[in-house]
Amino acid sequence: MNEAYYSFLIPSYNESDNIQLIHEALTKELGKMNYAYEILFVDDGSEDDTFKKIHQLANDHPAVKYVSFTRNFGKEAALLAGLRHARGDAVIIMDADLQHPTYLIGNLIEGFEEGFDQVVAKRNRDGDSRMRSFLSKIYYKWIDQVVDVKLKDGEGDFRLLSRKAVEAVLELSEGNRFSKGLFSWIGFEQKTVYYQNHVRGNGDSKWSYKKLINYGIEGIVSFNQKPLRVCLYGGLIIMFLALLYIFVMLVGIIRTGIDVPGYFSIISSVLFLGGVQLVSLGIIGEYVGRIYAETKRRPHYLIRDTNMDRDL
Ligand code: UDP
Ligand code: MG
Repeated sequence: MNEAYYSFLIPSYNESDNIQLIHEALTKELGKMNYAYEILFVDDGSEDDTFKKIHQLANDHPAVKYVSFTRNFGKEAALLAGLRHARGDAVIIMDADLQHPTYLIGNLIEGFEEGFDQVVAKRNRDGDSRMRSFLSKIYYKWIDQVVDVKLKDGEGDFRLLSRKAVEAVLELSEGNRFSKGLFSWIGFEQKTVYYQNHVRGNGDSKWSYKKLINYGIEGIVSFNQKPLRVCLYGGLIIMFLALLYIFVMLVGIIRTGIDVPGYFSIISSVLFLGGVQLVSLGIIGEYVGRIYAETKRRPHYLIRDTNMDRDL
């Protein structure tokens, strides 16, 4: 295990001020240890000098590798590209913005050497805006009930994956990727290490509330068809209640006669048909959801430039 080779995977989008800093922080930390490693920057179509900075680093340091996209494909795509290209026995995923403290690397590697296939760094939410922490908290509490895989608050992408775990993630070929869920889905024995959250180094978070909401929806939809099933069950319940109502009205009519002509037949058919329609929509939705997920066979990203072997 001592001979292990480590890949540091750093998705970077408009991080020009951070590239140098994260590289320094990493090499400083790694200088204390004696591991073979590569630092793989995935430039996610940055519009600033990020790629220039990475390119310069790569010229000066042979351990620096890069993959650069033709445009911004999103962090998920960057992670996928990185995992495909990384050659390490273990891959450590870190953000470029120095929010993931390098002093934890030792702990992550320790977990790997103990035999864990995933070592996850879990943060608290110090420094996040109140609103964001609050919404996240509700979301994760609620999603626990809805989704089949376990998603945990504070467990982000800062983690170590063994080669086996990386291969497992790469086996999952879905178009809409939700890494947090994928990492959880593959299972494996997992160890957690804890750290204090840091405020971002340079630049702004790329997560607007809109992006966060979409990310949240992705988390639910990409892991099951339950929302559609809610539709189905809702329809069944309405249908049942409508039938009950119709029966009660009918009994009333038989005993006391019709009070408003036409009312009964209209309301009962509207309610009943409404229920039937929802059920049918739900059933169709089950199929459409599946087809939708399978049809978008586009590549996840396009590579403009790299100093690594092309992936398959
Ligand atoms: N990132 C990326 N592509 C994107 C958005 C973000 O590669 O479209 C990278 C970004 O450069 C950073 C990491 O993903 O290294 C996390 O982004 P950010 O700090 O904005 O997210 P937060 O820490 O606020 O969750
Ligand atoms: Mg960040």
